[in-house]
Amino acid sequence: MHRRKINIAVDGYSSCGKSTIAKGLAKALGYTYIDSGAMYRAVALFALRSGWITAGEINEEQLKKHISDIVITFKTNAQGEQETYLNGEKVEREIRSLETANGASRVSTLPFVRRELVRQQQLIGESKGVVMDGRDIGTVVFPDAELKLFLTASPEVRARRRFDEMKARGEHPLFAEVLANVKERDLRDTTRAESPLRKADDALELDNSEIGIDEQLQWAMEKYHTLTAQNEQH
Ligand code: C5P
Repeated sequence: MHRRKINIAVDGYSSCGKSTIAKGLAKALGYTYIDSGAMYRAVALFALRSGWITAGEINEEQLKKHISDIVITFKTNAQGEQETYLNGEKVEREIRSLETANGASRVSTLPFVRRELVRQQQLIGESKGVVMDGRDIGTVVFPDAELKLFLTASPEVRARRRFDEMKARGEHPLFAEVLANVKERDLRDTTRAESPLRKADDALELDNSEIGIDEQLQWAMEKYHTLTAQNEQH
């Protein structure tokens, strides 16, 4: 049966497994997966490389002036994985560093950065069939998304996941540092004035601290099927 395409918003704290669920859903449904965090990371990388982010401050004036010079695109590689490009250069690896993660968390507090990225994200969503993960997808980017999921997990569980990922990439992180980074980003994400992280009233919540990937995906697919079955009856 041909089902009308919908948009799916997946929000939650950092390192909550949002991308795993979002990618799994996109693959199962033949939808496009968009990692909105990668877009904030790409802006941060651009600003870092330009010397506009220092320990104490961000050169907002320069970043604002050049915001439209930052072109972010996604391409799927031969392994079927999505990779992020900044002005035509593949930056998938560079944007995953702790430094860029911190920079992303800082640039994402700036209203003009959010405005520009939300505009691009809404354009992508216009044709439907998009699964987008982030912090404000169900509340700001796609407030009308038909399906909204909100994931949570304890800071320790999330730090452990990120720590394991970094080690698998050959990095040598300190667990205490990774945990401190997770907590710092949680605080910034939930307390910023502009689009703070919060669960949309109509989002379905899942604490995945103790749940495996298959089970989470099954939960999300069940929600999708329940929703689309209801829609077909109306
Ligand atoms: O999801 P990810 O950890 O890659 O996001 C990087 C940073 O970008 C986050 O710390 C968060 O502050 C910011 N972000 C955001 N809104 C989004 C996605 C990410 O503010 N929709």
